[in-house]
Amino acid sequence: MIEVKGIGKTFGKGAAAVPVLREIDLAIAEGEFFCLLGPSGCGKTTLLRVVAGLEKPDAGRVMVGGKDVTDAEPHKRGCALVFQNYALWPHLTVTENIAYGLEAQRRAKAEIGAVLGQSLQTYQLRGLEARYPHELSGGQQQRVALARAMAIAPHAVLMDEPLSNLDAALRKSMRRELMEFHRRAGNTILYVTHDQEEALALSDRIAVMMAGRILELGKPADLYARPRNLETALFLGDMNAMRGDAIPAALRGSSGPAETLCIRPENVRVRAGSADLDPATGFLAGTLAFKEFLGTHVTLGLETPAGRMLARAGIKEAEALPAGSPLALEFPPEHRLWY
Ligand code: ATP
Repeated sequence: MIEVKGIGKTFGKGAAAVPVLREIDLAIAEGEFFCLLGPSGCGKTTLLRVVAGLEKPDAGRVMVGGKDVTDAEPHKRGCALVFQNYALWPHLTVTENIAYGLEAQRRAKAEIGAVLGQSLQTYQLRGLEARYPHELSGGQQQRVALARAMAIAPHAVLMDEPLSNLDAALRKSMRRELMEFHRRAGNTILYVTHDQEEALALSDRIAVMMAGRILELGKPADLYARPRNLETALFLGDMNAMRGDAIPAALRGSSGPAETLCIRPENVRVRAGSADLDPATGFLAGTLAFKEFLGTHVTLGLETPAGRMLARAGIKEAEALPAGSPLALEFPPEHRLWY
């Protein structure tokens, strides 16, 4: 379990002071996979470094496994670290890299041997034992970094964009491996990423961070379907947003002109023409500006009086719609989000 209470951090002094973390509170449960997600510069890495003990907070406390570790050295916090650049020892082989932490802890030879055998198996590193990091692919290096972190049986693993140096295909397969490892090992994981898909796929819960604060916190499916505030709605996944005064009154209903209506592209219903639609239920007329073929579906770009909208269509359905087609966009009430 990781608890963060009232953490504040400012870099620089006087006029140059930049508050990077403001009053951060978090409680990450035992065995939870928890993501910090947010745009570049929002403070995710700094928060992770505060938990790791690599950065001293100006205010607040950090607890790991029920122990206050705010003033403890990084290696005495029961946390292992996995970074973007893996930080493997270049002059040590795969085996030596994995054993490094265990030897530093002066564990018995037999125990180190047993952990090594298990790690090579779990992280699919058999046959690579004697190689040096520069003789490994990115994915293999990443597995060594994970194996090394997990070998010391940490209470929690802190990961900072651990997959971001890999190419897209490898990133996806490593992501699945990571889930598998987590399911088996059951460690608490605090994971930093700016990749929404990664956060949605991996996490038990996500904290969306912006400008040094936690904007919203929840399970991936809830955050995606019902974000509580507009910033999260616009940040997480594709979203259409329309100001109330730019849409027909029937669509606006009782909401005010300054409120913003949001709806995800996959929830917009698109129909050719608008003749058979009842204006009282509210729809938006538009024309098809572009089609983006994405293999499993097509994203439609539509020009409307409320601005450019996105919708999702099946391959067949999209084929029947030439560019410039007049269309009607319907927004099912259960998918409308007002902010
Ligand atoms: P990214 O996804 O780009 O890594 P991040 O959300 O992890 O971003 P941080 O690295 O935590 O962001 O940085 C938050 C802010 O603090 C940034 O504006 C950054 O420039 C600033 N910052 C980070 N470290 C320092 C430092 N040592 N001294 C001064 N400013 C810093």
